[in-house]
Amino acid sequence: MPNLKVDIVTAERVVFSEDGVDRLIVPGIEGELGVLPLHAPLLTTIKPGVLRVIKGEEETTMAITGGFIEVRENRVTILADAAERGEDIDAARAEEARRRAEERLASREGTIDMVQAEMDLKRALIRLKALEQTRRRRRGGSPPPS
Ligand code: ATP
Repeated sequence: MPNLKVDIVTAERVVFSEDGVDRLIVPGIEGELGVLPLHAPLLTTIKPGVLRVIKGEEETTMAITGGFIEVRENRVTILADAAERGEDIDAARAEEARRRAEERLASREGTIDMVQAEMDLKRALIRLKALEQTRRRRRGGSPPPS
């Protein structure tokens, strides 16, 4: 059975680059998108969410704030706005970002600011979710259905 070579990069760094991947699940614009080997060529947008890469018994959970995915001949390239592996997420920073965004939303000042605050809150919540799922797996449990 063929497998996938997966590269997840941002403008700043390579977040993940491995071959031998069995499957990945990405937050597509129309819901969760599963990619298996022999997938048809694809170029589409990713929305902010949790991304999972499955390789044998190993599963890597990442937070991604949006970007593009290209699938071609068992090669998957993801260009992300920002992406972090669950274990690299700074919980205190994400909690602080969540607190700040919630505070701004509660103050209800300025429409543009509200939209920005909603997006900031979403990013913080995704990071906290990816971190929680990573910790849960470390403890031996399976991630909850999303
Ligand atoms: P903050 O308000 O805490 O700066 P942010 O949502 O504005 O967060 P982004 O603009 O999405 O941050 O990302 C900026 C950079 O910081 C990216 O490289 C991203 O991977 C990293 N980053 C943001 N939040 C975290 C976090 N909680 N843990 C680890 N890296 C993070």
